[in-house]
Amino acid sequence: MPIATLSEVLQPALKGSYAVGGLVTLGWEDMRAFVAAAEAENCSVILQAGPGCREHTPLPVLGKMFRYLADNASVPVVAHLDHGYTYDECALALDSGFTSLMYDGSRKSLKENIEETKRIVKIAHESNISCEGEIGFVGYSNGENSAGTDPAEAEIFANETGVDAMAISVGNVHLQENKEGGLDEDRISKIQMLTSVPLVIHGGSGVPTEQRKRLAHETNICKFNIGTELRMAFGQAMRNAVNKDVKRFDRVSILKETHDPTVAVVRRVLSNLKG
Ligand SMILES: [Zn+2]
Repeated sequence: MPIATLSEVLQPALKGSYAVGGLVTLGWEDMRAFVAAAEAENCSVILQAGPGCREHTPLPVLGKMFRYLADNASVPVVAHLDHGYTYDECALALDSGFTSLMYDGSRKSLKENIEETKRIVKIAHESNISCEGEIGFVGYSNGENSAGTDPAEAEIFANETGVDAMAISVGNVHLQENKEGGLDEDRISKIQMLTSVPLVIHGGSGVPTEQRKRLAHETNICKFNIGTELRMAFGQAMRNAVNKDVKRFDRVSILKETHDPTVAVVRRVLSNLKG
């Protein structure tokens, strides 16, 4: 199937009242398992290259890997840059074949965030791809604190930037290993009364499963980013494979055994979000 843009998977999700998984990848083994899981569930999937992933593998290489998987998949696959912090990084992702750019200006003032996000929306739309922005600040577990999204600012941000998707801070926190981060449903309602842009929840791993499932179907949240939960599943599968035979040194034979357990966990995540 030809590669999809973020809008091409989020607009149907908005209209059909469901959400798509924005799955944080770290390498070939997990991205391949994510697509296999989406095919098994017959739903779209967003492959995300975040800062940690890019530190390990250059963007042009990741672009080729995502595109290869998309071209050979039976379901729509999006190649998404997660947390692009500079214009140059976003431009490189665009040149590398990504079909969606997230520009993260959430640490900046509203004015700067709007101006800089607008620039990325412009280059994205000129190339017929999508752009996600962030308004409010989603903090990090054991790190920076969150600043909740102000609904009035979200409306201004959506209207002035023209983003295709908007990440909001409503109780979600990055890198949570436990499901402690319940979302502020009242704030979500206020935001979606003021804008019809598809909403994105970063830090989806920390959201209780029941709430994630319900909000995927009842609100304008169209994308849940899931990283930690999947890294934990992959890490455990890899540890089991390593420990199974201490003499084994060929990493392909070890990594092969991460595939099925990872697919099983991702299928459960996607089945709760899909339409
Ligand atoms: Zn994030």
